[in-house]
Amino acid sequence: MIDFLNLKAINAQYKDELKEACARVIDSGRYLLGDELDAFESEFAAFCGAKHAIGVANGLDALVLVLRAWKELGRLCDGDEVIVPANTYIASILAITANGLKPVLVEPDPKTYNLSVTGVKSVLTSRTKAILPVHLYGLIAPMPEIMALAKESNILVLEDAAQAHGASISGRRSGSWGDAAGFSFYPGKNLGALGDAGAVVSNNDELVDTVRALRNYGSVVKYENRYQGVNSRLDEIQAAMLRIKLRYLDNETQQRRLVAARYFQEITNPHVQLPERANSEEHVFHLFVVRSKNRSALQDHLYSHGVQSLIHYPVPPHKQVAYSAWNHFSLPITERIHQEVLSLPLSPVMEADEVSEVISVVNRYSELVA
Ligand SMILES: *Cc1c(COP(=O)(O)O)cnc(C)c1O
Repeated sequence: MIDFLNLKAINAQYKDELKEACARVIDSGRYLLGDELDAFESEFAAFCGAKHAIGVANGLDALVLVLRAWKELGRLCDGDEVIVPANTYIASILAITANGLKPVLVEPDPKTYNLSVTGVKSVLTSRTKAILPVHLYGLIAPMPEIMALAKESNILVLEDAAQAHGASISGRRSGSWGDAAGFSFYPGKNLGALGDAGAVVSNNDELVDTVRALRNYGSVVKYENRYQGVNSRLDEIQAAMLRIKLRYLDNETQQRRLVAARYFQEITNPHVQLPERANSEEHVFHLFVVRSKNRSALQDHLYSHGVQSLIHYPVPPHKQVAYSAWNHFSLPITERIHQEVLSLPLSPVMEADEVSEVISVVNRYSELVA
């Protein structure tokens, strides 16, 4: 079976370095908020081309804490509207509702799966206080246009960059466009820890200070609490693992792009719709998502020929039980995406013959088999 993503093989590439770093942390006696985290925060900020990064416990917390900080700073109030793509992963929406803010779900561009400025404009009102673009599947959203609109309307922008470490437009990377960004280092993400981890990235000192306090019980000085904060720290062992993997991230992204380039070139099955081909630096191919009118037949065909595939995502947020008040919403573009998308195996450790095998199996799929 060709795995969708072989995490063991990805981390095995750096096994000796990872073990050595782990031992270094064990021997240091310092396990939280120490030198490894400080170093990772500056290295990751530099990677993004931003002033600051703040490590937190996971990607969801990164998004939650930015919105929470803007509330503490008086930039957002209960009930303010936040525009978000309707086809995003649930975490983007959870971060909004967890803060008592109102998500305004907007249909994505059906070609890129990302927010379009036209879409944002169609739901922009005087109650809109923030936009939450998601760089879905590794493709950066149209940030120059979104930032121009946000500036003109005096609203905040929080990038959900959980799937797009290093994706860029005109050399400017995800995380450096918005007023702030949330990153995830969930093991399966392009930069993955060996457990949970995340980061907030921003150029804004005031926001950064507030998030730094919020992640550590709302405390700036130990035992003095300015905010009713949370415990959401990125621990020293994960920071040490991430520092090592960050050094190889650009190389891994290149490997991902090579696999994607072969899929674009060699998948020729008219029943399988390929993703939009972006400019070379815009996409970091967290996922390679194709579409099929008869997805389950395609997925069964792949599986029975030894190729694992996954669905990102089977149920849109507005159809979830957790958001039953929205279940009646009609978002046809989003609903169709969720019915048709299928993610093919793609990883920096795929061998050329595995890529060939996936291509051959996809090309042999026939709707008649269905
Ligand atoms: C993974 C992901 C998150 C959440 O990250 P966690 O680290 O799992 O909490 C948020 N948004 C998107 C788009 C993601 O893919």
